[in-house]
Amino acid sequence: MKVYKFGGASINNIERMQNTAATIGKHAGEKLLVVISAMGKTTNALEKVAEAFFSGNREDALLLFQRIKKAHLDTVKYLINLNWQAAEKQLSDFFTEVEWLLHDQPVKGFDYYYDQVVASGELMSTAIMGQYLKEKGVNLKWVDVRDILRTDNNYRDAGVNWEITEKHIQEKLLPLFNTYDVVLTQGFIGATDENETTTLGREGSDYSAAIFANLIQAKSVTIWKDVDAVMSADPRLFPDATIISTLSFTEVIEMAYYGAQVIHPKTIKPLQNKNIPLFVKSFIDPNLPGTAITGNPVKQLPPLIVIKPVQVLLRFRSKDFSFVEDEPLQKLQELFSGLKYRPNLIQNTAISLLCCFTDHPEKMGKLASAAAAYFDVEVEKGLQLLTIRHYDEKTINKLTEGKDIILLQKTTETLQALYRI
Ligand code: ASP
Ligand code: MG
Repeated sequence: MKVYKFGGASINNIERMQNTAATIGKHAGEKLLVVISAMGKTTNALEKVAEAFFSGNREDALLLFQRIKKAHLDTVKYLINLNWQAAEKQLSDFFTEVEWLLHDQPVKGFDYYYDQVVASGELMSTAIMGQYLKEKGVNLKWVDVRDILRTDNNYRDAGVNWEITEKHIQEKLLPLFNTYDVVLTQGFIGATDENETTTLGREGSDYSAAIFANLIQAKSVTIWKDVDAVMSADPRLFPDATIISTLSFTEVIEMAYYGAQVIHPKTIKPLQNKNIPLFVKSFIDPNLPGTAITGNPVKQLPPLIVIKPVQVLLRFRSKDFSFVEDEPLQKLQELFSGLKYRPNLIQNTAISLLCCFTDHPEKMGKLASAAAAYFDVEVEKGLQLLTIRHYDEKTINKLTEGKDIILLQKTTETLQALYRI
């Protein structure tokens, strides 16, 4: 059994959907669990629906949702020849689920509504792909992942209940492979004990694929992307970025943590724990070798560059000249986790702690005002965080030359520089 994950870009138009279906069909004999995201930019569009609804603009919310519905119905019209009625029926169930909610007044928190609305993107995209694959002759079962992937009710960043999810997989999902070649399900979403829909955090479909791979003991996971392979840097920023053909779990988890957009950072642990290789391949040209990520260390990697934009630096300085340790430090950590706002880089001095965060005005405002009870807080905005793994002098010079660096950290493997832009 193998796990395939396709992101939004792999199904953002008819041609790509056909191409993705062809790739799935070609490998169906290997028994595939296929995890798919929402089409193109649907998740962003659904976020707008949830925001409009929650701020009391029901008409706007319904109108915005109407456009999303139309886009999906149009897709059915142009993609599906035989099973279009079944596809429309399935879609209309998901439309109803959302519209029913939009007609109410919000009485719960925003994150709850966000998840109920936004999760429909994956349900709709997989419904369409499932019907299309079936009419193309693939022996496939579509599964509502909310019957399998159990989470807590931490909406928008739900934590997985591994025990119950594993039980569901053993009882409900694995037996399907006795009858079907392909089981198709949604990334990014799950459900609570009370059957409320949850999401795992933006870009969470990679993580879903890894959870499934871990629990079904998959032979491998393949993440199909619109890039040839994992690159040494973002090729849009660094045109001379090179392809990396093999990487280790350690390397990738570090890169993702520092902000590389290749793979969701939570993806690696479930794979590493069961030693399941991860392949990153191009859906545009599946003949390219892509990147293989395994537990084996890889020697002689070139410098790997990651840039995190829109950073802010917060300086927490003790008010009475006491050291920032023990209690005050614990207080700060509580604030960070309470707000789900974690620093990307920390440095301490005797009486202050410097923390670099991704700029999130709302969270930052809350953090700064709560911390002001214990510290003098200073904020500097407009920064970028550069990380170079396996740095060499040449790369450092090239990337930091002329930069107004305000914080620099170096280990034997990793250099990080925070600078003004
Ligand atoms: N559709 C979700 C998002 O855009 C999840 C994913 O693509 O992985 O964040
Ligand atoms: Mg995506």
